[in-house]
Amino acid sequence: MKQSLLFIPTLRDMPKDAEISSHKILLKGGYIKQQVAGVYTYLPLAYRIIKKIENIIREELDKIGCSELLMPALQTKDLWVESGRWDAYGKELMRLKDRHDREFCLGPTHEEVITSVVRDYAKSYKKLPLALYQIQTKFRDEFRPRFGLMRGREFIMKDLYTFSTNQEDLDQWYEKIRNAYICIMDRLHLKYRIVNAASGQIGGKSSEEFMVLCDIGEDTIVYSDSSDFASNYELYPLEVGAPSPDGMGTIKHAKGIEVGHIFKLGTKYSEPMSLTFIDVDNSKKPVIMGCYGIGVSRLLMAILEQHNVDLKVLWPKSVAPFAIHILPVDKQGTDGFKLACEIEETLENRKYEVILDDRNESLGVKLNDADLIGCMYRIIIGRKAKDGILELKNMETNEIQELTIDDIKNYQY
Ligand code: ATP
Ligand code: MG
Repeated sequence: MKQSLLFIPTLRDMPKDAEISSHKILLKGGYIKQQVAGVYTYLPLAYRIIKKIENIIREELDKIGCSELLMPALQTKDLWVESGRWDAYGKELMRLKDRHDREFCLGPTHEEVITSVVRDYAKSYKKLPLALYQIQTKFRDEFRPRFGLMRGREFIMKDLYTFSTNQEDLDQWYEKIRNAYICIMDRLHLKYRIVNAASGQIGGKSSEEFMVLCDIGEDTIVYSDSSDFASNYELYPLEVGAPSPDGMGTIKHAKGIEVGHIFKLGTKYSEPMSLTFIDVDNSKKPVIMGCYGIGVSRLLMAILEQHNVDLKVLWPKSVAPFAIHILPVDKQGTDGFKLACEIEETLENRKYEVILDDRNESLGVKLNDADLIGCMYRIIIGRKAKDGILELKNMETNEIQELTIDDIKNYQY
């Protein structure tokens, strides 16, 4: 891929309104463009990463028997009245009317819609369990949208819902999904902690959050220095130095970014919305539900917060927009540039994702921009190229190797 064709509208100066490094990088590096507060265009670089994050999530969920669907963002008021949330959700719900004055909202979450989808089908225990998810744009009129994609008014979420005939089955799904989330976080190379959480607007009995550990996180985690106890401060407002509630150790604080939230809902939606089934013993019962969210666009920023040093980026291999960055020193039309194109083609044929900086800029400019794009490998085609020697730099180890053209073409990146 030629860099000039990718559309990376970098900014010359550091954006003043961005407070945290990931937000600075996303704006300066031409990853996102703000349209209005809390609403962004994902430009090609960011969108490549978003798609990779989504696919990792898909792989882990499909593996445990979840099925993907896509529900409408536009939801009727009727469903929200049925669940009792039309009034309860308050000002965060984006409400609108159609030309016939019928009321709607733009979905901030999909418990109502999924319940209405499943209730016409799952009338017997024979049709259960089910685990259905989607990856979709959500709308929340946040009081204070900030930190770019971290708290948007329009953002991408993966939301998954399970439907069980009994509590044990819900417990099993919850455990399987929790483990899938652990695999997802590990594949995204995140340092995180699972904490007990308050259930907020979604409701239900118990819930846990996946917190990416980070100083700029909006949430405070309270944890014990000598046991597994960890909770959101919202739920357990314990101060530093207090004894841990499990009797082991004392309390410490850390900051976290909530990237995932898993809930045992029980019958909070199935009862008011009449999602019932006929059990083996012929009795009618409400379906037992769970719901499980991951903030996909927020994850992009959380990963970036943990994978930049002084605004120099190194994306984890699993989500990097490209694996290899080719940087020719010579301008278009020269032998060095032709060699760069030849290497690009060879590596692309080997199915590597490659970006070639084809702009007629100095190497200094190219290297600065490469620091914002954050690929694991750089191939520099410089002065020694005429003698058949190129430079390969591993950005993780900082190791630089001088290799022949053939070695570069055959290297295992
Ligand atoms: P928060 O406490 O941060 O507002 P929440 O508890 O309202 O989050 P959920 O309703 O559980 O969030 O949504 C599931 C996931 O969606 C969250 O874990 C988070 O990663 C993501 N998310 C929620 N609100 C936003 C937002 N405004 N912008 C981006 N991502 C969000
Ligand atoms: Mg919220």
